[in-house]
Parts: sequence; C-alpha cells; structure tokens
Amino acid sequence: MDSALAVTPEAIPKYPGLRNFIGGRFITGDERHLDVLNPSDGSVISRVPLSSPSDVDAAVKAAAQAFASWSMTPIKERAQVFYRYRALLERDFDVLAALITEEHGKLRKEAEAEILKALELIEFACSLPQIVPGEVLEVSRGVECRVDRYPIGVVASITPFNFPSMVPHWTIPNALALGNCMVLKPSELVPLSAARIAALLAEAGLPAGVFNVVHGGQEVVEAICDHPGIAAVSFVGSTRVAKLVYRRATASLKRALALGGAKNHLFVLPDANPDLTAASVVASMSGCTGQRCMAGSVMLALSATDHIVRRLVDHAAGIVPGEGIGPVISRQAKERIERYIGEAESEGATILLDGRGATVPGREGGFWIGPTILDRVHPSMRIAQEEVFGPVLAIVRVSDLEEAVAVENASPYGNAASVFTESGSSARYVAERASAGMIGVNVGVPVPREPFSFGGWNESKFGAGDITGRGSIELWTRAKKTTTRWGPE
Ligand code: NAD
Repeated sequence: MDSALAVTPEAIPKYPGLRNFIGGRFITGDERHLDVLNPSDGSVISRVPLSSPSDVDAAVKAAAQAFASWSMTPIKERAQVFYRYRALLERDFDVLAALITEEHGKLRKEAEAEILKALELIEFACSLPQIVPGEVLEVSRGVECRVDRYPIGVVASITPFNFPSMVPHWTIPNALALGNCMVLKPSELVPLSAARIAALLAEAGLPAGVFNVVHGGQEVVEAICDHPGIAAVSFVGSTRVAKLVYRRATASLKRALALGGAKNHLFVLPDANPDLTAASVVASMSGCTGQRCMAGSVMLALSATDHIVRRLVDHAAGIVPGEGIGPVISRQAKERIERYIGEAESEGATILLDGRGATVPGREGGFWIGPTILDRVHPSMRIAQEEVFGPVLAIVRVSDLEEAVAVENASPYGNAASVFTESGSSARYVAERASAGMIGVNVGVPVPREPFSFGGWNESKFGAGDITGRGSIELWTRAKKTTTRWGPE
C-alpha cells in the first residue's frame, strides 16, 4: 500500500463533517469545505461546509414557510420551547462546555461561563410574555388606542468566533420567542456549537424551519444581506465587517444592527484598591486570552500608580499558558498579535511581561501566547489605537483625568470603559465623559446582565437599539397601532 495514501487514526477528524440545518434536518449542501481546528494543538477536528447563496435561499424558504404558523402561536406557548431548551442545556452542560473548549480553545471554566450566560439569556426569553404585553388607553370618550408588537418575519444572525455559544444565544432565544424565524450563520472557525444548538432546539420541540443554520463565510453573509426574503440582520464581529454588513443589509432596505470591534480603556487612579484593581485589570486583559470585545486593552495610568502596575505584572506573570490561559484562535491571530508587540517595542514601549514564544508541553502545535504588558506606550502607537484581540495590555501614562478622558475619547471605538478608584466623584467624572456604551466602576469587564441590554457606541455598534435584554424587543418586533371607536357618541 502506498504510504502516502494511508490514513492514520490522527488524520481522521474527531467529529463528522458538519452539515447545514434547514427545515428541521441536517442536509448536505455544497461540496466545498474548510477544516475546523482545535487551537490548543492545531489538530483537525471536523470540516465545515462553505455554503452558497442557494443554501441561504433554501433556508429562507424553510423559515418563511414556518413563519406562517410560528408567528401566530401565542407567545406564552412559544416561550415553553425555551423552558424545555434551557433544561436540555443544563442536562448537556458538560458536553457543551467541552465542545466549546475543543473548537475555540478557551479554558474549561471560561467555556462553562459561556453556557451559564446562555442559560441567563434563555431565562430572559422565557420572561418575554411578562414584558411585552401591549399598551392600551382610552384616549377620548369611547376611543381607544392600543399598541401590539408583531414579529418581523425571517431574520438572520451572523456571529463571530470568540463566543461560539453565548453570542448566538444573544439573538436566538429573543428573536424566536418574539415570533420570528431565523437563519444563523455561525463563524466558520467555531461551527460545532451551532450544530448542537440546532439539534437541542429541535429536541425541545421547536417546529421545523423556525431555526436554520447555514455554514460558510463571506459568500453566505453577502447572500443574507441581499436576500429579499430576510427582514432583519444582526451581526457581531469586527468593525471592518460590521460596516460592510450594515451598509449592504440596509442598502437592500433591511433592518440591521451590527456590533463591531473594540478598544476598551481602563482608567486606574492612585487611590484605587491595589489588589482588586490588579486582579481586575489582569482578568480583563487576559481572560478568554484577550479575545473578548469587552477586554480591557489600554490602561490609562494616572501618576503615582506604580505600586498597582507592579502588582498586576506579578499577578499576570503567574498565569501559565495551558493552565490559566488558553490559546488564541489561529496561527494568523498569534502572528498578528506578536507583530503588534514587536512594533510597539521597536517604537520605544517598555515590555514589562512578554508572552511571545509561549509553548505548552505536548501541545506544541497550538497557538499559544502568554499575557503581555507594555509600559510607556504612546497613544499614537498602533497598539494603543487598534484592536489587537489578544492578551496584551498597553499602559499609557497620563498626568490627570482630563488627559485620560481625551485619550479615551480619541478612540473610534466605544464598547466599554472602566474606572478604578475609591472616589465617587472621580468615578462619576469618567463615567459621564467616557465615550462608550458600557461603563465599569471597579469592574473590569462591565457586561450588563439581563434584563439590561448589551451594546456599545461609535464604531463598536451600527444601528439603533441593543442586541440583548429589553433593547432587543425593538429590534425583533414591529409595533402595530390600532385606534378603535366603541360608543355611539
Ligand atoms: P469577523 O468580523 O472576522 O467575522 C464575523 C463574521 O463575519 C463571521 O461569521 C465571518 O464568517 C463573517 N465574515 C468575515 N469576513 C467577512 C467579509 N469580508 N464579508 C462578510 N462576512 C465576513 O470577526 P471575528 O474575527 O470572528 O470575531 C472577532 C471580532 O468580533 C472582534 O473584532 C471582536 O471585538 C468582535 N466582537 C464584537 C462584539 C460586540 O459585542 N461588539 C462581540 C463579540 C465579538
């Protein structure tokens, strides 16, 4: 036998090739595929189809067919599916968390946090019947005005690689409980969780066609933006693609909400609690290997904060790749992050902690990089301005709060900003002036919990409303205003 043709056990992907989920069935589509890698060792674990516009069309047709009866199903009944679905996620908690770790690389406890957040998002969807009853008022004698919320039709959700389960759950439960049918296009880098979501929703009793998954990349996204049968598009990903999607979807007269990238600033004041601040800053910059749109990546250090800087470097230096921090998503991502660090170093930044060249014994093929902290970064450097999306903290020294706010305000992004201080007035000064949609006070990753909505400002979000919580009701429904005259007078 020709040894070049021999298939070794390691060469067989662990999971069978993925298929699109359309009309309640997993179906074979286009023959083009991409390998799905485990970022912690670089091994191939599955294959994902690169679907075409005709697959999008088939999914939209299935969704449109299901919409007729799903949209007429009372919301209390629709919510029941999500009570059952939540129980299935709890049942499969370990398997789902393990799958996230495999396809994304994040630590087990980070993967578990994703599923816990998904459960919270589903709970909010279960509470929608209590939140969305219409309004009614007798506006003059015998005349009544009422407002009712209706679903908008077939909607699409396009998601990024960094949260394979949580970000799809930002949109799926609310959009569906509110009566829409959906086509999900998950990231082609982490498609396995999406397939499990589809199977579990079906097991929970969701009617065929209400939820569909079309795998692929740019071609699928463009077909979604252009398809006349899709009424609304939500997108979460980089700012570059968010702009493309927002422009293209609205050009074909769709409702669109596109969440983009981020550059989040952490204001550290001399009176901040040193231990809490050091731990929070390190968790913010290195949690999920810095691959979070809420990751703090620039620390604005006011004068007399050297004691906090020392503490956080000590803390970050104790984080061992493979134990306290996972890999980044791909070889290209690792190279990109290392380029940013090298460039800043050559421009004069001081490296206090260098995570380049990290390896994990037995997993040398993984895309590892340890926590990295640079000091004396100038705000004009690319590392201080652009989204690095890795475990890298750029410390910019500022002399006062006014200068710190000016640096933050100059960023085109606006997802989050956090301030660490014991002074209420300083915290308020920053909270009022930071140009960001989500603010933390002594909190490094200020993600709003349900029922509050998630969403940034500026180039971190295009479109009105927010993607989760109460803000999402406006996104996924349209209001019908009815005026009725009753009495003969
Ligand atoms: P990405 O923009 O590369 O990909 C997002 C989605 O767009 C994927 O499904 C991908 O297949 C698709 N896509 C990629 N290139 C495309 C193109 N040229 N045309 C059309 N579609 C395209 O983002 P990513 O690397 O998967 O995720 C990381 C980014 O997402 C970071 O910038 C991060 O800040 C951002 N993000 C933002 C939020 C938020 O709430 N603002 C949340 C999570 C992630």
